[in-house]
Amino acid sequence: MVLPICEAGEIVLRCPSRELTPAEIISPEMQALIANMFDTMRAAPGVGLAAPQIGMPLQLAVIEDRQEYIDKAPPGHAAARERLAVPAHVIVNPRLILERLTPEDAAVEFFEGCLSLPGFTAVVPRARAVRVDCLNERGEPVTIHARGWYARILQHEIDHLGGTLYIDRMHSRSFMNRGNFERCWKNATAEELRKLIDG
Ligand code: ZN
Repeated sequence: MVLPICEAGEIVLRCPSRELTPAEIISPEMQALIANMFDTMRAAPGVGLAAPQIGMPLQLAVIEDRQEYIDKAPPGHAAARERLAVPAHVIVNPRLILERLTPEDAAVEFFEGCLSLPGFTAVVPRARAVRVDCLNERGEPVTIHARGWYARILQHEIDHLGGTLYIDRMHSRSFMNRGNFERCWKNATAEELRKLIDG
């Protein structure tokens, strides 16, 4: 079942979420909520959805990046972002550790969007690699090592669980609506973007 998505201004997006116990995770109610979150994410479509976005302040998010989405991106887009398909999975009670692959890797900068801020996008610096310790949809502990676009998705969704939105981390001068992004900035060079960001 597709659920309505909360948008910026709804207080649930700004509240810290509470942790779930393994018993809660495997309950029929929570399994139904997870299924509805996948339906909602895919209908949007999006590559991640956190429970606060459907009005539930719980430490829970669903993630899936499909090859068909990646194939729709312009040539070179996926390679630059180190974007590979990510199978559908659930993270619960995540702990995020930023990882640095090389000294130059402090942060990578790309345009990012959010289903709770429809119609807008901005450049957001994010760690290129992360480790996430969490529980899966069966309440079992798992460790995820991610890089590239998947690492960005994890950082974005885990931010939601702490009441943080990408607009709190963006380069504010790069904030724009999707129409202008498509028209003017989609194929901008790194130098053009730098100029926009730094002024
Ligand atoms: Zn979001």
